[in-house]
Formats: sequence, C-alpha cells, structure tokens
Amino acid sequence: GTLSIAAILADTARRTPDAPALHFMGRTTAYGELWDQTRAYAGALAARGIGRGSRVAMIVPNVPDFPRVYYAALALGAVVVPIHLLFKADEIAFVLEDSGADLLVAAAPLLAEAAPAAARTGTPLTTVLAPEGLEVGGAPVPRLEAEAAQAEPIERYASVNPLDAATVLYTSGTTGTPKGAVGSHLAMIEQVHVSLIDSFPLLREDVVYGGLPFFHSFGQMAVLNIAFRRGASIILLPKFDPDEALALLVRHGGTVFTAVPTNYAGMVEAAKRTAERPPLRYAVSGGAALPVALLEAFEEAYGAQVHEGYGLTETAPSCTFNMVGEPIRPGTVGTPIWGVDVAVADPDVEDRIVLLGTDVLGEIVVRGHNLMKGYLGRPDATAEAVVDGWFRTGDLGTVGADGVVRIVDRKKDMIIRNGYNVYPTEVEAVLARHPHVSIAAVFGVPHDTHGQEVHAAVVPAQGASVDAAEVVAYMKEKVAAFKYPRVVHVVDELPLGASGKVLKRELVKQFAP
Ligand code: ATP
Repeated sequence: GTLSIAAILADTARRTPDAPALHFMGRTTAYGELWDQTRAYAGALAARGIGRGSRVAMIVPNVPDFPRVYYAALALGAVVVPIHLLFKADEIAFVLEDSGADLLVAAAPLLAEAAPAAARTGTPLTTVLAPEGLEVGGAPVPRLEAEAAQAEPIERYASVNPLDAATVLYTSGTTGTPKGAVGSHLAMIEQVHVSLIDSFPLLREDVVYGGLPFFHSFGQMAVLNIAFRRGASIILLPKFDPDEALALLVRHGGTVFTAVPTNYAGMVEAAKRTAERPPLRYAVSGGAALPVALLEAFEEAYGAQVHEGYGLTETAPSCTFNMVGEPIRPGTVGTPIWGVDVAVADPDVEDRIVLLGTDVLGEIVVRGHNLMKGYLGRPDATAEAVVDGWFRTGDLGTVGADGVVRIVDRKKDMIIRNGYNVYPTEVEAVLARHPHVSIAAVFGVPHDTHGQEVHAAVVPAQGASVDAAEVVAYMKEKVAAFKYPRVVHVVDELPLGASGKVLKRELVKQFAP
C-alpha cells in the first residue's frame, strides 16, 4: 500500500486551493500557493539528490518555510529530522551525525550554531530566510529559494510504504544523550485522524493558534498536521509572547488555542492588560500538568473550555485526552484515545511488565498505533523502553475503573524528603491557587540531613507582589508537613525550554547550595 504524510498538504490543497493555510506577518498564504511553493522546494531538494529514505535535517522556527521544507522532504519520501531551535553547534552536530543527515536546511538567523555543526560533520547545508548575498566564513550561503527557482517542481508526492519512517524526533535532552524517536507515516496519520474524529474536531473555518514550535511533536502533530489535514488555517508565531499571541488571536479571529501550561499562565496575565478577546471555541493543553487553578483562570478570562491531554514524543504524541464533547475532568488527562491502551505497571520490575490494578499508583505504560518504531540506531534503549509491547513512559500515575488517567509526576522529578515521596505537580497545583501567584515550579534540592529539600520558584501575578515567607506559611496550612516548600524563591520568570516547558534541572542548578 501507499500512504504519505505529504498528502496532508498536497491533497488538502487539491480540495481547497483558495482556502487560507497560514497567517504570518500580516500576510495570508492559501493552500494552493503553499503547495506550489512546496513542490518547488521539493524540486530543489531532488536536484540535491534527496529521495526516498534520505534524511533531511531542518532547524527552522514557525515561519511559512517550516511547512514548505517539511512537506517537500516528505513528498520525496525522505525522512525529516527537525532540530531543537535552542540547540548549540555541538548538539546540532550530534543530531546530524546520529541521524545520518544527508542535508541540513537552516534558517539564516540560526546559522551561527548551524553552520559550524554542518561543517564539522560534513553535512551539506542550505538555508531559508537568508537575504541574497549572505556570507558565512567568507563564502556565500546557498539559498533553497534560489535553488528552487532553478529546479523543476515535482508534480506529485512519492508513494511510500505506510510503515516507512517519516520523522526522527530527538527527545530527552533532560536525561543524558538525546535519542531519536522514529515515527512512521501510518502512526502519524492515524494520530491525526483519531484526534480529528474524537479528541478535538476542527472545522475548515477554524483559525488555529500556531505558537507551539513545530520541531516538537506537540506542535507538529496537534497544530500543523491536524490543522492542515482539516484545511483549517494557522496563525504563525515564531516566538511566544503572551501579549502578541493575544493580539494575533484577536486580529485573525483565532478559534482554537493549543499550548503548554506556561503559555496558559502568560495568557491569563495578558488578559488583565486588555479587554479584547478572540472568538475561541475551545483550548487544548498538554506537554506538562495544567494546574486546575490555571485551567479555571483561563476559562474565566477567555470563556473557552480547556481540554487537557497527555502524551510523549515517542507516542506521536497523544495517548489520552479530555475529549471535546465529553465531560471534562479537570486535574486528569482524560481517557485513552481510540486504538491506544494505557495501563499502570510496577515501576520496580524492569525486565517485564507487571500490570497493577485500577487506582494503584505505578508507571504509566502505553501500547497502540501511536507507538514509535523505536529509537534510531539504539536497540538497547528501545528494548529498555518497550517491554512486552508496552512503552514505559517514565511517568507515575493511576488509571481509574472508569478509564480516567491521572498523571502524578515524572519518576525523575519526584522528591524524597526524609523518606517521604513528594510529587511536585501536586504542590504546584496548590501554589497556583494562591491569589498572588501566576505560576510556580516545585523541585528538590540536595540537603545534608533530609536527603532533599522542597523548594518552589514562584512568579507573581500581574501587579501583585509575593512575600516568600507568607507563601511558605500559606502552603504549610494547605498541605502535609513533609510536602510544603520550606524555601520559596520569588522570580520574574521560570527557565523554559523552546517547547515552553519548565526546565527543572536549571532551577535545581540555580538554587542548589
Ligand atoms: P525532552 O525530551 O526535551 O527532555 P520531555 O522529557 O518533556 O522533553 P516530551 O516527549 O516532550 O519529553 O514530553 C513527554 C512528557 O511530558 C511526559 O513523559 C510527561 O512527563 C509530560 N507530560 C505531557 N503531558 C502531560 C500532562 N498532561 N500532564 C503531566 N505531564 C505531562
């Protein structure tokens, strides 16, 4: 059989060529126009020898060139390797080497890190967003746009085996060496269709917020591929800024907001600075736990219900969802998506899967159509993660008799204070209820006598001032003695990764004695 993710752009363009696909910097690009540009880019890539099975690495922010390069490579049957926008030269070089990249397409503003990585690994380099005549190290840099002008555009996208690799997404910079999760065309298309049918159905008229970075599984799947499959349009925002996000949503009539919890906190604060509101139908949260207080504050400010889901890069990404049209259960991640099983296993038995009963805390395990093919070139790591057909997520949680999944925390973020387990997510949810707190992160700092001490970094809400000692006293009233943060740091902002998630290891580094 044949089935290609490239159809997500190509066939949508065939059906609705004049419908808007992208809104960027005041300009709207229609589907037909975008596919024509993509066919031209594909011609340029083909002229460089890219074809079925080639690996095309790309380091490009959320600008129209992201989908052009992404679908151009996929249309040739090549495998796309999107690279983290904050990666430095060494990290980019690692990904180029590890993935066996045949080409790197870099956005010109990122060349300072990308060009040395390409040179060191001997990877051919071309660019997007480069002004004519741009030079690096005294030599002019190739421009994909100029190459496309010389090349013959492709007519159709190539046939691929549905089980062929489509993307390699690198994950877990947090736990040592990044691993490339290989996703197939089938798994990704299945995810798109299941999401559109059950989790969050879109309409063609929907205008979707596109601030989640597309290099990451969440933005790539839950925004780019889903919106384009449906023929909806996307508002591109290369770098998250809550006031700008709100203004763009208002200007373009945004109807769906998909984001990570730190973005939600920003949007709640931004709503205090203007009375303007976009016509949101609903919102989607994932990537990290959304405190219930934040969910409520967003719903209050924007009049739109928030649907939280749970997933990982290795699972394309969604595993569970509080589906649109079904009762929302705040504080949970909803129920497994169609065709996916979610269960709880004994975290201490590593070589096999020992399933635990309902409502018993253990490690969340997942199996189904959404599972990656494996980690690229890492059979050892794959065998460790996928046991008896189940993927071990590294997250602790429960599954209720009603199938509702609760994520308690990541195993590695759990704090052990005097032998008691403290789950930061739970403490963060209570901190988020404090009237002067916008968002908080709880983390463990090594301690001589307690093993670890519970610390919190707290960002004050708009116009509020936070007294650290008062927050400690507040929390002492609200949670058990072993759980409350003994040390509260008031900060202007939390350290965030490019995907918008809080980097807890940075906080530990910053505040460890
Ligand atoms: P990196 O790979 O860069 O270290 P990461 O470890 O966050 O990032 P991802 O695949 O981006 O990897 O994220 C998956 C993780 O995000 C899950 O294992 C889980 O810990 C967390 N997560 C995702 N959604 C939720 C949610 N709704 N509630 C709680 N945690 C979530």
